[in-house]
Amino acid sequence: MSKLTVKDIDFKGKTVIMRLDFNVPLDKQGNISDDTRIKEALPTIKFVLEKGAKKLILMSHLGRPDGKVVEGLRMDPVAKKLAQLLGETVEKLDDCVGDEVKKKIETSKKKIILLENLRFHAQEEEGDEAFAKQLASLADIYVNDAFGTAHRAHASTTIIAKFLPSCLGFLMEKEVTSLAQALNPKKPYVVILGGAKVSDKIGVIGNLMQKADAILIGGAMAYTFLKAKGEDVGASRVEAEKIDLAKNILADAVKRKVKIVLPIDHLVVDNIEAPTKKITADTIPTGLIGVDIGPKTIALFKTELKSAKTVLWNGPVGIFEKDAFAQGTKEIAQYLATLKDAMVIVGGGDSASAAKKFKVADKLSHVSTGGGASLELLEGKELPGIAIIPEKE
Ligand code: ADP
Ligand code: MG
Repeated sequence: MSKLTVKDIDFKGKTVIMRLDFNVPLDKQGNISDDTRIKEALPTIKFVLEKGAKKLILMSHLGRPDGKVVEGLRMDPVAKKLAQLLGETVEKLDDCVGDEVKKKIETSKKKIILLENLRFHAQEEEGDEAFAKQLASLADIYVNDAFGTAHRAHASTTIIAKFLPSCLGFLMEKEVTSLAQALNPKKPYVVILGGAKVSDKIGVIGNLMQKADAILIGGAMAYTFLKAKGEDVGASRVEAEKIDLAKNILADAVKRKVKIVLPIDHLVVDNIEAPTKKITADTIPTGLIGVDIGPKTIALFKTELKSAKTVLWNGPVGIFEKDAFAQGTKEIAQYLATLKDAMVIVGGGDSASAAKKFKVADKLSHVSTGGGASLELLEGKELPGIAIIPEKE
């Protein structure tokens, strides 16, 4: 890693402000349903404390409060969980900037302070300089370990680094190093693309096409491609305005000798929420909706994956959240875990949760904590939250 990291900085006696990705999923009661992101933040937090920081101010966004205070999106459950995991007390404040916050930080006896949800202020997502300066004024050093938001030039993720000596944390380092390997993959390089929307992933396909040997397409994305090939897709989810683009990608793939593999059978239903009909079909009958890849496609995808040396998986191949439509995603995930000689990288929030759901996350080479951030990195873009951190001497 050529950027400054926490290992390059002297934290002794300093007040440190650290941006983390504590944007955890909450259940209906407001409890944290998956604390992975908090756990992933612990190594950097512990390291900075061990290195003698006087005070550690932590900050994150949570959900989408869109610039106003939303009671259900306060950081209190995060503070509680964090204190539990660290075995230390955490002082949680009710705002993230202002005189009151400043005073509380100065007078607090606690070493670890958690600021209120940054996105209660619209200036956060606007990347407002004055707001970033206010955050910066709370500390001597800025650490960014929020990979999940590194693709956003927000006040706390990017702009603040203009006003303080800055560096990256361990999670950032791990993500960037692991994902960089997929930028220079060992061959054969096979990509599995799925998920809901073609438009989300078009940029990646263009970039992947230059490197991948095969791209296996599942999920709702597949139907836009099948439609582009003139196949019937019934009432499956298709992005009509992306059909031409899909045609171009298919033509480009032929030119570049990249194999694009589309589903050859499907699990189809008449209704996603309450199906009265559920069948496997090679072509999708009129009025029915594709919700998962079928058994022949699962076998076909496995054959393509068998000899891969690098695999990138982004996007579930079916509506895996529903057990009845999860077979394809489950079998592919479990097959990936058996590929002993391949580097297998998973990017994307839903793909990561599928890897966890099917208990393979710890058997794969790298499961990224970031969705959009990992995709942008894989498109070959420089992420603003990383770009702004100074290079090592
Ligand atoms: P990731 O977060 O891994 O990048 P996406 O957000 O692109 O993945 O897509 C995940 C969503 O795609 C899941 O919620 C899943 O239910 C949905 N999905 C997968 N297959 C289909 C399908 N055939 N029809 C509709 N939605 C689908
Ligand atoms: Mg997603």
